[in-house]
Amino acid sequence: MQLIDNFNFAGKKAIVRVDFNVPLNKETGEVSDDTRIRGALPTIKKIIADGGCAILMSHMGKPKNEDPHKGDPKFSLKQIVPAIEKYLGKIQFAADCADAADQAKNLKMGEILLLENLRYYAEEEGKPRGIDKEDPKYDEAKKAMKDSQKKFAKTLASYADVYVNDAFGTAHRKHASTAVIADSFDEANKMFGFLINKEVEAMDKVLNSAQKPFTAIMGGAKVSDKIMIIENLLDRVDNLIIGGGMTYTFVKALGGNIGNSLCEADKLDVAMEVLNKAKAKGVNVLLPVDAVNADKFDANANTNVSKTNETPDGWMGLDIADETIKTFSDVIAKSKTVLWNGPMGVFEFDKFAKGTSAVAQAVAKATQENGAFTLIGGGDSVAAINKNKLADKVSYVSTGGGAMLEYMEGKVLPGIAAIRGDK
Ligand code: AMP
Repeated sequence: MQLIDNFNFAGKKAIVRVDFNVPLNKETGEVSDDTRIRGALPTIKKIIADGGCAILMSHMGKPKNEDPHKGDPKFSLKQIVPAIEKYLGKIQFAADCADAADQAKNLKMGEILLLENLRYYAEEEGKPRGIDKEDPKYDEAKKAMKDSQKKFAKTLASYADVYVNDAFGTAHRKHASTAVIADSFDEANKMFGFLINKEVEAMDKVLNSAQKPFTAIMGGAKVSDKIMIIENLLDRVDNLIIGGGMTYTFVKALGGNIGNSLCEADKLDVAMEVLNKAKAKGVNVLLPVDAVNADKFDANANTNVSKTNETPDGWMGLDIADETIKTFSDVIAKSKTVLWNGPMGVFEFDKFAKGTSAVAQAVAKATQENGAFTLIGGGDSVAAINKNKLADKVSYVSTGGGAMLEYMEGKVLPGIAAIRGDK
């Protein structure tokens, strides 16, 4: 596999898949959070510093236009040009990503060209638009779309000598720009950018070479969303901490009273299976023993505290309580590797945010005081870490979302496989 560190871009045109799907201020259209732009800078700067030039491509939002030339302007990447220029100086813009051959050809070394939103073309995602899935002609349309996706990817590839993928957030999608395009480049001329490298390195460290004790903290709403990742981790972890709404499916499976707490009634057997497997593998499973309950799902609900398996009728558990916080924090603080995905409670409501904050603090403490490698991933745990201003006190905060979850589930990601050859 080619490594960006070893590659010299001098005299080369590099087409770079970045993730510039940045949030915009609805009124002014300005970029309201440029984290993703900043995230792509090391790769772009390396290409330019080596003496190459960069053709940047990205999607923005979910345009659904059938005609590629009638994309909704609210998804236009033109809007973010000033936000990029702030860091990279003047750049060029191609208003049609599939008709930029001349602009790409005329691009001089040291220059940067940004292509318009790839998803103005249905070919990017490879899904036909304007035809219902139930339509008898859908399968035919899908097949035809796969062929035009290949053509679209070839057009993009034709602009450059080298392909760099630095968009981890879309690596779990087999899109033209994230995977199909790689077929047009030989192994020496395709590589990950620095951002993907960092993500993959952090996740591989946790999955394949974790120092022990290794604690996985799984929270969030539903068992069904996290079951695959839990299964993949059972062979690896020493401690499995369970929190958040999914607690109650486990507690119910064990025969507890859960009142009105969240429960997936059709997942009780799955929950029991996880507990039995964990036991057989010697994994220490920690379920919350006490909870802060609410009389309704509301920021201003009345609260009480009970044992998790003795939730009073009419109440629902929305956060972990003090005894659980202490037990969880102790285990986390002694860990050498921590993976955290999903909040411990409804942290969006201040009354039920304490457990999640305490876990965020414990993860930071393990990192700072115990030298643990700590990886935080999944939208809500990242939000919780940021809310507690602890992002720089943990080892790695993944930006991957869905891609990170799938990687941790042990799935092959098309965007990773296209470069690394994962099977
Ligand atoms: P997920 O996206 O699966 O990680 O779930 C995150 C969501 O789970 C957040 O919006 C939390 O508010 C919610 N959540 C956490 N704990 C609970 C709970 N005990 N009951 C209901 N929802 C919860």
